[in-house]
Amino acid sequence: MSPAPRYVSTRGQSPAVPFATALLDGLAPDGGLYVPDHVPALPADWRDAPTLPALASRVLTPWLGDWLAPDTLGALVDDALSFPIPLVSLEGPWEGVRVLELFHGPTLSFKDVGARTMARLTAAALGDETLTVLVATSGDTGSAVADGFAGQPGVRVVLLYPNGQVSPVQERQLIVERPGVQALAVEGTFDDCQRLVKAAFAEPPQDGVRLSSANSISVGRLLPQMLYYPWALAQSGLEDAVFCVPSGNLGNLTAGVLANLAGLPVRRFVAAHNRNRFFPRNLSGRVEPFPPSVSTLSNAMDVGAPSNFERLQILLPGPALAERVWGTSVDDAATLGTMRAVHDATGYVADPHTAVGLEGIRRYREHTGDPTPALVLSTAHPAKFPEAVQEALGVTPPTPDALAALEGRPTRVETIAPTLDALRRFL
Ligand SMILES: *Cc1c(COP(=O)(O)O)cnc(C)c1O
Repeated sequence: MSPAPRYVSTRGQSPAVPFATALLDGLAPDGGLYVPDHVPALPADWRDAPTLPALASRVLTPWLGDWLAPDTLGALVDDALSFPIPLVSLEGPWEGVRVLELFHGPTLSFKDVGARTMARLTAAALGDETLTVLVATSGDTGSAVADGFAGQPGVRVVLLYPNGQVSPVQERQLIVERPGVQALAVEGTFDDCQRLVKAAFAEPPQDGVRLSSANSISVGRLLPQMLYYPWALAQSGLEDAVFCVPSGNLGNLTAGVLANLAGLPVRRFVAAHNRNRFFPRNLSGRVEPFPPSVSTLSNAMDVGAPSNFERLQILLPGPALAERVWGTSVDDAATLGTMRAVHDATGYVADPHTAVGLEGIRRYREHTGDPTPALVLSTAHPAKFPEAVQEALGVTPPTPDALAALEGRPTRVETIAPTLDALRRFL
C-alpha cells in the first residue's frame, strides 16, 4: 500500500500535513483549502462490500494510513453511518434515472453523512484536548453539525444562525437541546453570522480555547462524502453512470471527483445549480468575479462564491474540469415545475434541491444525447421543505419520525447582537 496522502494547501504556501492536522485546522494557514497530495486508488473489492460501513472502512483506510487502528475505524464508521442510503428507480419518462436518497439520517439532509463521520474522526484526533466548533448556518449544515457532534468527548459546538431567517422546521432542528451544543440566534443576516465566525478566528479567545470550523471546506466532511458514490454504483449493478449533484458550495461534487480520480467509473458529472450559477458559467475557466448570492427555494444551495471551486481547479486542472463536469442553472419556476412533473409521472416526491438535480439530468440528456443511466443525488427530505412541496404538489409531505420526535423536546437558544463581544461570552 502506498503511504497515505498528506494534505497541501490549494494556495501552495503551507506545509504538507497529515490528515488529523488538516482535520483539526479546517482551513490551511495560508487561507487555502487542503487537498491530498495524491489520490489513493479504490480497493479492488469495492463492489463487494456488504454494507456501507464495510465499504467505508475499505475505502478510507488508504486515505488515513495507520492513523486509526482498523477496529477503531470500523467502530467509528458503524456508529456514524447508521442509516440507510437507498437507491430508488424512477419510471415512465424518467426511465434510466435513479435517485440516491442521502437524507435518511437524523437531520434529514445529506450533510449527516459528512458531519457525523467528521465528528467522530475529530473526537479521535483530539485525544485529551478540547475543541470548540464554531459554525454559521443558514440551514442544513447547522443541524447536521450540531447533531453529529453532540455528545462527542472533548467537543463543544456553538452555532450561529440569522434570527427569523430560517424556516420553522430548520429552526426547530437547530435549537433542540443537545449535549455540548449552544445555538445562537443572531440579530442579523447570514453574512453577519459568517463575519462573526471569521472575526472569532482572527482574534481567538485567550484562555487556550481551540476553535475549529465544520463547514464544507473541511477534509473531515469531504472524505466521507466520497463513500456513497461507489456505494450507489455498486447497488445499481451498472458498469458506470452519470452522477448528477445538486450543488452549492461544491463539496458534494468535489467528493465525487475524488472518488472518480480514485478509480470509480463515472461517465460524467452534472453539477445542477439553482439561480446561483457562478459554477456552470465558469466551468471552462474563470471569467467572472463571484456574484452576490440570491435566495431561492433550494436555499441550501444559495451560494454566490462556491469555496470548493478552488479545489476543483486543482484536482481537474485546465480543460479537465469542463470535460468531466457538465453544469446547468435551474430557476425556481423550473424547480417547482420539475417537482410537479416528476410527481405526476411517477408519484415520487422530490424536495426542491433534488428537483434541481432531476431537471439538471433531464437537460443533460436532452443536450448531449448521452443515454448512460443516471444517478441523481437526493440531498434533502421533502418534509424539510413543506411550503415548497405544498406549492408544487398541493399536498403536504408526511412528517418523518425524525422530525416528529423533535416536537416534544426542550429547546435551548440565546439571541445575541451581531457583535464579536456578544459572541465571546459563549466561547
Ligand atoms: C448543502 C446542501 C447542498 C449543497 O451541497 P454542496 O456540497 O454545498 O454543493 C445541496 N442540497 C442540500 C439539501 C444541502 O443541504
